[in-house]
Amino acid sequence: MASKVQIHVGNVPVGGGAPVALQSMTLTKTHDVPATTAQIAALASAGCEIVRVAVPKNEDAAALPLIVRLSPIPVIADIHFNASLALKAIDAGVAAVRINPGNIGGPDKVEQVVTAAKKAGIAMRIGANSGSLPKHLESLAQKDQAEALVVAALEEVELLEKLDYREFKISVKATHVPTMIRAYRMLASKVPYPLHLGVTEAGTEFAGGIKSAVGIGTLLADGIGDTLRVSLTADPVKEIEVAWEILKALGLRERGPVMIACPSCGRDNVGVESLALVVEERLRSYSEAVEVAVMGCAVNGPGEAGDADFGIAGGRDVGFIYAHGRVLKKVSSETLVDELFVEIDRWLADGMKRPKRLKMAKPAALAMAEASLIPLGDS
Ligand code: SF4
Repeated sequence: MASKVQIHVGNVPVGGGAPVALQSMTLTKTHDVPATTAQIAALASAGCEIVRVAVPKNEDAAALPLIVRLSPIPVIADIHFNASLALKAIDAGVAAVRINPGNIGGPDKVEQVVTAAKKAGIAMRIGANSGSLPKHLESLAQKDQAEALVVAALEEVELLEKLDYREFKISVKATHVPTMIRAYRMLASKVPYPLHLGVTEAGTEFAGGIKSAVGIGTLLADGIGDTLRVSLTADPVKEIEVAWEILKALGLRERGPVMIACPSCGRDNVGVESLALVVEERLRSYSEAVEVAVMGCAVNGPGEAGDADFGIAGGRDVGFIYAHGRVLKKVSSETLVDELFVEIDRWLADGMKRPKRLKMAKPAALAMAEASLIPLGDS
């Protein structure tokens, strides 16, 4: 199911077993070079690996050479209806163009763009979108939008294959999550090319993030998808934050700490929500992939958080620090967070060695018995 073909968007491999690459799109007017490059820099700092910019006008195409030069990550030019803008973008040195071969002006124009892309050695993203299916597929779309998306994409694939061009990735985005999932599954069974995943027009940060996580996450869990964009009506940096959380949740990529926190319940002795926020804030300054659990009580905490690298379990006056499935320390509640970070820093300085672990988390009762033998503050 995973794509067999690998392409390159600039220096980023996409497909063929490469790590799933994250992308986003700038919201600025592309011809406003300072604003566009500032947004690209913010995206790159957040972990964006490929950036797409809209190129609706000549002035946007004219800005591309400088944007490409200043961007720390590969730039894709997003172009619709205008082959000459695509040719200008290729001349400007973009790493790829996103076009819809169905609306770029006919087979001759597609051939011109493909010839230029081949000559420049760059990639292309093609594919259909539920909002812009070609007219001849309208009745099929009414019956089955997922199938119409796949047929539209396959028509584009056929066109490019006839031109002996295969350096492309494909998207079949839909706003309806089940449709999008079905379309990508169908497409993945039919083509060897890399797939670009996304739920289009997903919405605002909260609802759109959830829709994207469900749609994109379901496919990634099936092994489908090589690159993705979380489309949010929000600052694009949020798109990258959500995208990383999706990849981290599936264990596909690592970036920075992962925090686990219990949802709290009537056994919460410590106010786990505020404790978790404090730990989360302190973890922001770490780039290492350390997994930290924050648990509200020492009764279930040790068992529930047994898989994390580190954990804390709150108590009324004392709290426990866990490391790699074992109780490490019992400390006063006031110093719990500070002591946790002392242990994390020590482990990082020692080279992040993960000791062999029991398969099952240590039963809470056993951990508690062990913990009760440790005097307060003993390290
Ligand atoms: S760790 Fe304790 S407080 Fe948190 S949900 Fe589990 S039982 Fe409740």
